[in-house]
Amino acid sequence: MLTNRRSFLKQSTVITVGTAAVGPSKLSIGENKKMPKVVEPVIVSTWPFGKASNDEALRILTMGGSGLDAIEKGIWITENDLGNGSVGAGGIPNAEGVVQLDACIMSGPGHRAGSVAAIEGVRHPISAARKVMEKTKHVMLVGTGAKAFALKEGLETAQMPIESRRQEWLKWKSNQEKNAAKNHDTIALILLAPDGHFYGGCSTSGWAYKLNGRVGDSPIIGGGLYVDDDVGAAGATGLGENVMRYCGSFQVVSFMQRGASPVEACMETVKAIARKDPKGADLSINFIAVDKQGRYGAAGSAEGFSYSVTTTTFSKVLSAAALSSKDIGPVGGNRN
Ligand code: ASP
Repeated sequence: MLTNRRSFLKQSTVITVGTAAVGPSKLSIGENKKMPKVVEPVIVSTWPFGKASNDEALRILTMGGSGLDAIEKGIWITENDLGNGSVGAGGIPNAEGVVQLDACIMSGPGHRAGSVAAIEGVRHPISAARKVMEKTKHVMLVGTGAKAFALKEGLETAQMPIESRRQEWLKWKSNQEKNAAKNHDTIALILLAPDGHFYGGCSTSGWAYKLNGRVGDSPIIGGGLYVDDDVGAAGATGLGENVMRYCGSFQVVSFMQRGASPVEACMETVKAIARKDPKGADLSINFIAVDKQGRYGAAGSAEGFSYSVTTTTFSKVLSAAALSSKDIGPVGGNRN
């Protein structure tokens, strides 16, 4: 729990990897009503491949684009990368050889959200999610309904799986036991925009060779992504089943609301899940977060998670803080 300041201070000595504040002095929200509210943007995304998306998001913001444009067009970069086996048309198919994509988007202003799950054949699921948010009364569309809506909105289609993924799938199919290696990632992109508001988006093809119709955490608001304009934003990557059962990104924002810094909030969420879950430290869950002061951070259930951070002065990949077994104590609050 977040009641013990000393335990936070202790953690922060362990988990200072790649956490920082970016010019809170530049935050001018509410300082002077006549001045334009211009905030130094902070863009954070999952994994090293997120850096190219961050850079595009910054370019869009610098050109005067909106926070939502920055999220959508930033994520396009990763969705367009056919070398990326876990996002977009280059994604690894499900067990039936079909690529089913999940995505969502959230706007701090208005607390709006849009989401698509298990959508097939649409090049930019993040755009479909944005259309759901902006053009419908709903938050989430799935499967054939999501695809039909996206096509009606004029979104581009794409052939998937690409041939190399189809060949891999055929091999996997003929030798499932040996090739059951877990393979999954997500681009979660969150940002504090120059307008002082938070925005976020997620896009993934999910867990490689998943069951047909499986939906992960990424399109679930509060699971793979959560934005609260009064607090900050958080996103997740890892085994969706272990994030969505705990409303992971919602928990991160909630910890920040109660005073935790972004890295503390990510780590407290990983710990809270690890303490309760029979899988303990073997959860494969990772979070990123940004708060109102422009501070950012990340943490994962194991070593190896890295994330990308971009501002107007730098763009870099950082190592996230990792859970250590001594952090969680006896594991498995829900073990039978
Ligand atoms: N969270 C995604 C899913 O479970 C995959 C990942 O981010 O690694 O679909």
